[in-house]
Amino acid sequence: MQLFSSKERVGKSIGFVPTMGYLHQGHISLVQQSKKENDITIVSIFVNPTQFSPNEDLSKYPRDYDRDHQLLLDAGCDVLFYPDSEEIYPKDFQTFITVDEITQKLEGEFRPTHFRGVTTIVNILFNIVQPHKAYFGQKDAQQCAVISKMVDDLNMNLSIVVCPIVREDDGLAMSSRNVYLSPSERNDALVLSKALKEADSLIKKGERDSFRIKSEMISILKSVDTSEIDYAEIVDFKSFEKVSVLEEGKHYLLLIACRIGKTRLIDNQIISI
Ligand code: AMP
Repeated sequence: MQLFSSKERVGKSIGFVPTMGYLHQGHISLVQQSKKENDITIVSIFVNPTQFSPNEDLSKYPRDYDRDHQLLLDAGCDVLFYPDSEEIYPKDFQTFITVDEITQKLEGEFRPTHFRGVTTIVNILFNIVQPHKAYFGQKDAQQCAVISKMVDDLNMNLSIVVCPIVREDDGLAMSSRNVYLSPSERNDALVLSKALKEADSLIKKGERDSFRIKSEMISILKSVDTSEIDYAEIVDFKSFEKVSVLEEGKHYLLLIACRIGKTRLIDNQIISI
C-alpha cells in the first residue's frame, strides 16, 4: 500500500470502504467493487466504540490487524486507514449526528444508540477521507438506508454504493461475529438464511399476507433450541415501515435479527413483487 499526498489525489476518484476489521470476503467484495469504479481505494479499520452500547461486545470484538493487512494487500487496496480511538474521539469530543425516524425501528428498537454512533463515525471518516464514493454491504440493510438518508438530507458530496450480501457456501451470511459461534451453533445459525429462503419461495408461490410469511420465518428460526428472535419482519424497502399485504410493483425487505446462543446475527433479503 502507498501514501498519497493531497497533490496526487487531484483528478483521481477515491473509493472508500469503512470497516471494523476482522475482514472476510464480504468486506473484500466491497474493496473489489471500489477498485473497479475508482482510481484509489481507501479502507478504514476502526472498531467504533460509539456504536456499541455498554452491554455489547466492544472489548471482545474480534481483531487481527496482521491478517487484515495481508488480505487488503492481496485485494489491491491502496490505502489502509487504521486510527486509534483517541485520534477519532479526543477527550473533549461532543458532536453527534442523528437521523430521526428510520433509526427508531427494528435495529433501533433493540440497539437504541447504535445508529447515532454509526452516522457519527461515518461522518468523521468521510470528512477525513473525502471519498467520491463509499461502499457498504446490503448485509446491514438498515445501516445502508440510514447512511443514504443522511447523505441525501445533508447534501453530502459523495455517492453511496450498496453491494450484495456475500454468503458462505451453505448460505450463512458472512460476518466478523460468526467467529463467536461454536460448531453446533454455526450449524444452528443456518436457520436465518433458511427462513429467508422459505419466505422468498412462499412469496414466489403467490403469498402476499405478511403475517403468514412472518409466521413461516419465525417457525424456522424457532426450530433450533439456541435461537432467540429479536425480529423477523417484512418492511417497505425504503421507509422500513412494516407492511401487512404485499403489493405488485413494490420492493420490500425480509429482515431478521436473531441470537444464536449469545451471538446476535442479522440477515435480510430484497423482495420485488
Ligand atoms: P463491519 O466491519 O461489520 O462494520 O462491516 C463493514 C462493511 O462490510 C459494512 O458496509 C457491511 O455491511 C459490509 N459487510 C459485512 N458483511 C458483509 C457481507 N456478508 N456481505 C457484504 N458486505 C458485508
